[in-house]
Amino acid sequence: MVIKQLKACKNCSYISESDQCPLCGSQTSKEFQGYLIIVDHTKSAIAKQMGIDVNGKYALRVR
Ligand SMILES: [Zn+2]
Repeated sequence: MVIKQLKACKNCSYISESDQCPLCGSQTSKEFQGYLIIVDHTKSAIAKQMGIDVNGKYALRVR
């Protein structure tokens, strides 16, 4: 069983498994704390607050 290492974008906090953010192309970091899942960004107040317009997982804090 392979456990995939999740990484969070240092710029937009989007969580993926790649070294480069698929959304904005910035560097990602595996040093992040907590995350939230945006299922429907059009209905999420947090997404609006964070400027998120793509559904997915986002880190709360990226180091
Ligand atoms: Zn990004």
